[in-house]
Order: sequence, then C-alpha cells, then structure tokens
Amino acid sequence: MPLACNEGGFVVTYEIMDKKYVGSGIVLLLLTVLLVAGGRYQYRKLSSDRAANETLSTATEEPKKEEISETASAPEDPSEEVLYRAVPADVVTAEGLRVNHPENAEAGKIIYLTFDDGPCMYTAKLLGILDKYNVKATFFVTDMTPEYEYMIYEEKSSGHSVGVHSYSHVYDKIYESEDAFWADFNLMNNVIYKYTGEKTDIIRFPGGSSNEISKFNPGIMTRLVAETGDRGLYYFDWNVICGDADGAKTSAEIYNNIVNGIAEKIPTLEDGEEIVILCHDNHEITVNAMEDVINWGLDQGYTFLPLTKDSYPKHHTIHN
Ligand SMILES: [Zn+2]
Repeated sequence: MPLACNEGGFVVTYEIMDKKYVGSGIVLLLLTVLLVAGGRYQYRKLSSDRAANETLSTATEEPKKEEISETASAPEDPSEEVLYRAVPADVVTAEGLRVNHPENAEAGKIIYLTFDDGPCMYTAKLLGILDKYNVKATFFVTDMTPEYEYMIYEEKSSGHSVGVHSYSHVYDKIYESEDAFWADFNLMNNVIYKYTGEKTDIIRFPGGSSNEISKFNPGIMTRLVAETGDRGLYYFDWNVICGDADGAKTSAEIYNNIVNGIAEKIPTLEDGEEIVILCHDNHEITVNAMEDVINWGLDQGYTFLPLTKDSYPKHHTIHN
C-alpha cells in the first residue's frame, strides 16, 4: 500500500515493507543493538584495564624517576655534595676525608701507633682503617696465630713498619736465657723475611724493656738490651698505653685512654721525644677505636708515622 514518502524515515520504510522484510529488519535491529552494546562493554573493559595498567606502571616507575632526579641534582651545590658523602661511610672517597700526610710531619706533633701481638683475625680490618686515612703504623709481630702470619706481607706492602716482638711470646721460655731469647727472635725474623723479603732491625721486648716478669732470671733485660746494640738492632718501648692489656672493656675506654694519656704525657716529653702508643691488634675494641683516634689526632694537627731505626728511641728504665 503506497504512502506519502515525506513522512519520514523509519516508519515509512516499515510501512512499505512486506512481512518477510519486516521480520528480517527486526533481527537486524536486534543484532545491531547487541553489537553496539557489546562494543560499548568491550570499550569500557579495555578502558578500565588500561587505567589499571597505568596505575600499576605509575607505582613501579615513579621511584625510579625520583632516584634519577636526586642523583642528577646532587653535584650542583658543593654543600649538598658534602652531605651526600657524609652519610654512607663505606663509599666516602679519599678526597672527601681529612687524611694523614707523612711528608708533612713536624717535630713535636708526631704519633707512632704501635700494635703488638698480631697478626690475627682483626689485623685486616685494622689495615683497612689505616689505609683509609693513609696512616702508617708499626706492627711488632708474633707467631701466636700462625694462620694469619701472611698478614705480615700486607702490613709491609701497605707502608707500615714491621718489627720483631716474639715468636712464642711465652715469658718463661724466652727469658730463660739469652740463647733462648735470640733463638725465638730469629724464628720470628725468619717469618718476617719469608713474607717481606727482608729481615727487620727493630724490636719490642715482650713486656717492654722495663718488664719485671723476667726477674726469675736476674739481670737478663740489662744483658739483652746491651746485646741489641751489638747486633745492630733498635728497640722501642712506649709512653702512652691504650689500656687494652690492662682491663679496658670498650672502644670508648680505649679512645679516652689514648686522648687522656697523650694530654698527660705532653708536659713531660723529653727533647726530641714523640708520642708512642702501645696497642694490641688482637683486641677488637682497640681496632674499633682506631678510626676515632685517627680523626682526633689529625684534628689536633698530629701526623702518624711508622717507627724506623732513625725514630726517637723511646726507652723505659730497666728494672732487671
Ligand atoms: Zn706482647
């Protein structure tokens, strides 16, 4: 049935179709609605997934951006640079530290750090601390812990002095006779030779030249001291103790003993005498105190040097 064509669109078309086309049109319409609805769902789902992904990627990427920007801005201001260096001690560079300069040593402002009874399990850590500040020290070595005797090579090659203390460090044995003493001395100097390629000419008597533990053999210290000169050797005692062999229990005590000991010693120093500190590297508290001791010494204008045969011969009064 013909109808006016200008009544418009869908209704007109619908009216002129026969029933078969009308049925097909309804199916098409439903399919279209379903497709559009499905498409909109898919779009929404994709959008929400993308949003979720963006949230995730934001969470993982943002800290990286911050890290990069912080690192990049650090060197701009020198004061900031110092702050950055001060926090992680392990990555502090040598140029960021006040370090020891042996070539600038001045008479009256010298400290000789001396370490007896090693090498041992703490010696490597101590060498690391000394190296960090370019501090040179003196090791009077023993063979009490032979598994660490190879550290003598590390000591010498790091620029420290190595002297004989004792092979066995057993007082009854080494002070039994002069022969026994020099036999023990030679054993230790042979170990030093094995690791450094040279024998040493410096020595510290076990207990010091002033020891009284050797009195079971009257006069032996007097005779041994005289013989060091005959053998072309140089012996060294000390004038400040850190107290690690006298009951100190903490690194703070070690530090205080050294700082106070130096203050007490200074007024009585003889002409040419310098500070010689007795320490033992087989005491962990002593090793752990060294960084503070070194920083204090450098702040006070001291230079740390290793003992050599030309150093001021700090000798105790002999009691046996
Ligand atoms: Zn000793």
